[in-house]
Amino acid sequence: MSDGEMKPSLQRPVAPMVGASRPVVTPIMPSVVYASDCPDALDAQYEGRVFGHTYAREGHPNADLLARRVAAMEGLEDGITLGSGMAAVTAVLLGLCRSGDHVLGADQLYGRSLRMMKEDLPRLGIATSLADPTDARAFAAAIRPETRMVLVEVVSNPTLRVADIDGIAAACKDKGVLLVVDNTFTTPAAIRPLEHGADIVLHSVTKLLAGHSDVTLGWVGAKDRALLDAMRVFAVTTGLTASPFDCWLAERGLATFDLRFARAQETAQRLGAHLAGQKGVTRVLYPTRPDHPDSARAQGLLQGRGGNMLSFEIEGGRPAANAFARAAEGIAFAPTLGDVGTTLSHPASSSHRALTPEGRAALGISEGFFRVSVGLEDPQALIACFDAGLSAARQV
Ligand SMILES: *Cc1c(COP(=O)(O)O)cnc(C)c1O
Repeated sequence: MSDGEMKPSLQRPVAPMVGASRPVVTPIMPSVVYASDCPDALDAQYEGRVFGHTYAREGHPNADLLARRVAAMEGLEDGITLGSGMAAVTAVLLGLCRSGDHVLGADQLYGRSLRMMKEDLPRLGIATSLADPTDARAFAAAIRPETRMVLVEVVSNPTLRVADIDGIAAACKDKGVLLVVDNTFTTPAAIRPLEHGADIVLHSVTKLLAGHSDVTLGWVGAKDRALLDAMRVFAVTTGLTASPFDCWLAERGLATFDLRFARAQETAQRLGAHLAGQKGVTRVLYPTRPDHPDSARAQGLLQGRGGNMLSFEIEGGRPAANAFARAAEGIAFAPTLGDVGTTLSHPASSSHRALTPEGRAALGISEGFFRVSVGLEDPQALIACFDAGLSAARQV
């Protein structure tokens, strides 16, 4: 399947011949080991004169194919498929930093990324600090002489603030610091960070790219081949490998990614407009809405592509939130995003439960705050579910 290269416009890769014809669907290749002809053939392979696999932790056809597909979406030729989004974060942070380095992160990163910044990197002698990525000037001021890299997400969870990627990229370039962008929330359909000056881009493929909540996968790509190779060696050594079956499922999911994204984004806009007019709703957060604090940046940087994520707040605190979640039947109350079905999460009791109420209040997360990952349902039916939830919440 090394000939499985695709033109970007083709939905299906070209599978190897089976006799006189080819399967239309990518084969799953679960083999852990690959047999070679003889020691000379193995030499040729290890020396890069011919292509071949040896052992699945080091790479396998399904992971390679998926890596190239995601790479094409980000404007690259190649990348690395990993066992989870956190494996991708790990490959970047631990594969490229050494003791004595400093890493600057955005202050509202994905929870586990934040934990790695606050707990694991310092334990290994890598200093970290956090700054607000919506303010490029303040963010740049937090770069130190020993800063190796900067880690940001384009749109933050759950208040959907939009980072000043262009401003941060300029500061990183100026100071010779690597800019790493976790593009999970936004996806290449909304922004291609490498075109805005990022050096490394990573994904939790688990979310919108695979799109069906049935695989855990990650991906990382870099402009600089040497950085990519260093991360690949680290990933192979530490076993951050992805399973062939998961890669196969993700590739199948990718075939519909553009359609899913467009549909979910359209419904998210509609849902936002609807919720904003409802009694008992105190706030609707969606990046391209005129009342969002970063709407100008969402129009520029994201070119109006606000994505599928939406947050809102209702009156009545936790009792109303309980009533809403129970009555909005048909919407899974589950802390994930990017599924074909709409999911609802409550940061105060999940992603942000470790914070004090004051800490949450500082971020604008109250007991009535919900985050929605909009899926592919009929928009009218979805809005009816939200109305049922709101009606129950108002009666508390
Ligand atoms: C989910 C997520 C991750 C982690 O991905 P996993 O596949 O769950 O390991 C990292 N970053 C962001 C922004 C995410 O949403």
